[in-house]
Amino acid sequence: MDTYDVIVVGGSYAGISAAMQLARARRRVLVVDAGRRRNRYARHSHGFLGQDGREAAAIVADARAQLMKYGTVRWHDGTATLAVPRDGGFRVSLADGEAAHGQRLVLATGVVDELPAIPGLAERWGASVFHCPYCHGYELEQGRIGVLATGAHSLHHALMLPDWGQVTFFLNAAFEPDAEQLAKLAARGVTLERTPVRAIAGRATVALRDGREMAMDGLFVVSRLRGASPLAELLGCDMEEGALGKYVRTDMMKATSVAGVYACGDLARMTGNVAMAVADGAMAGAAAHQSLMFGAPA
Ligand SMILES: Cc1cc2nc3c(=O)[nH]c(=O)nc-3n(C[C@H](O)[C@H](O)[C@H](O)COP(=O)(O)OP(=O)(O)OC[C@H]3O[C@@H](n4cnc5c(N)ncnc54)[C@H](O)[C@@H]3O)c2cc1C
Repeated sequence: MDTYDVIVVGGSYAGISAAMQLARARRRVLVVDAGRRRNRYARHSHGFLGQDGREAAAIVADARAQLMKYGTVRWHDGTATLAVPRDGGFRVSLADGEAAHGQRLVLATGVVDELPAIPGLAERWGASVFHCPYCHGYELEQGRIGVLATGAHSLHHALMLPDWGQVTFFLNAAFEPDAEQLAKLAARGVTLERTPVRAIAGRATVALRDGREMAMDGLFVVSRLRGASPLAELLGCDMEEGALGKYVRTDMMKATSVAGVYACGDLARMTGNVAMAVADGAMAGAAAHQSLMFGAPA
């Protein structure tokens, strides 16, 4: 079994950022990555300093190429299926039957978006249906924006999005604003539509149950989030209950409740983006490195 100072599970924005800190400290690092980035549905990535509007895949490919120039880094394309404490560190099992041992573990496995079961919605995810106005709102050119309610949390979306265009809030029997909320929506110029949604067609046309169709330039929906991997919970890491789903609790250094295990990126925050994942990864990588010298927080 190969041994490493640190095993990083998840080789996207957060994981590569963590591994970079460790590589630059000349530590032996294994990155295990299943290659299913959360934003793989969107061609371009926006809002990340110096990379605005680049292909999302190209940002990660460049980062990986730069990381792999460091001689102490190994990369495994595949899935980590289990991580258990072993010999003062962690034994990580891989889907191909191999295993590796690391003194420390950095989890950067990301999240999965769970979308409402509206026909035609999932097919347009990342192309004309989005969750993050900062990521994809600007490109809608102040056009017609639909917000599809999935619950009370969608009110926030509906109140924010008028900064990006003319908003229709499709309540879809998922949420009914009270008088105070109605006043706020009116003040922001939001149009309400109560007829339930039947399907999404065309670019972003909302087909209603009464037969009407409302053409939009883009749609926003709040997705439920769940961890893309069960590793953190299997290790016993404490979780936080966020508004959109559970995420791994960490301290400011990205240490989890399990000594020697760090978590970064979307997996360990209520909501995230590329810049935040990269920042979290840098912190987790530096913290994991320093714990090799000074000990991991208990
Ligand atoms: C449609 C869409 C568009 C977006 N657009 C933008 C944008 O324009 N700008 C922006 O800043 N943010 C955007 N985001 C958000 C952004 O994608 C995430 O914040 C970011 O990907 C989080 O990075 P991460 O490294 O934490 O996780 P991810 O990028 O999701 O990477 C996690 C990695 O871990 C791997 N993994 C998971 N489990 C295992 C396992 N058991 N073993 C091995 N590997 C594993 C996955 O396969 C994946 O490669 C978008 C999100 C979506 C859904």
